[in-house]
Amino acid sequence: MAKDLGPQCKRCRREGEKLFLKGERCYTSKCAIVKRNYAPGSSGGGRRMQMTEYGTQLRAKQKVKRMYGLREAQFRNTFEAATQKKGNTGEFFVGMLEARLDNAVYRAGFAQSRRQSRQFVTHGHFLVNKRKVTIPSYVLREGDVVEVSSTKAKKKIWEDMLAVQKETTMNQVPEWLAVDKKAMKITVAAAPQAKELVDALNVSLIVEFYSK
Ligand code: SF4
Repeated sequence: MAKDLGPQCKRCRREGEKLFLKGERCYTSKCAIVKRNYAPGSSGGGRRMQMTEYGTQLRAKQKVKRMYGLREAQFRNTFEAATQKKGNTGEFFVGMLEARLDNAVYRAGFAQSRRQSRQFVTHGHFLVNKRKVTIPSYVLREGDVVEVSSTKAKKKIWEDMLAVQKETTMNQVPEWLAVDKKAMKITVAAAPQAKELVDALNVSLIVEFYSK
């Protein structure tokens, strides 16, 4: 499936909630969900249509796919990989999405959105265990250390970003990541905590969607 390059805010409006795809703007009154919380293409006067079971599952899947910024094939392949493991497929699935390098960089507060963190990673701004990794889907494991690649000029960018985020508390760093802002270092302290996210993201609906 082709890459979805449409306007970011339209995706939030389609799902009827904030997906936090644009960084700082998402926390302001300029957010399209604050200004026009109705589906794109509708006038905003009526209520959202009652959805079928399939529609509900589809929307749950689309929402999470858009949040993590994946293409359908990438998203489905991750799901298929999760089904190969013994245990709770939903938890494995979310754990795999969370353990992506681009997600960890975003969650740790080194980027304002997952899209931005993906860009930082592909441009070679991060090292994993002292080696440059430019693959956003790189799966982190417990004990891995992610660092900003050196040079003072580059580090200044993240110093400024982390300072802003401290003031606005834009990102809640999850417990499984230990962030050393001074050393510009992220340590994967544990496996991602997927259990709470499984409920919050309605992952059971995604499992049902792909199990048909
Ligand atoms: Fe979504 Fe952010 Fe746009 Fe608001 S500003 S609609 S949260 S992408």
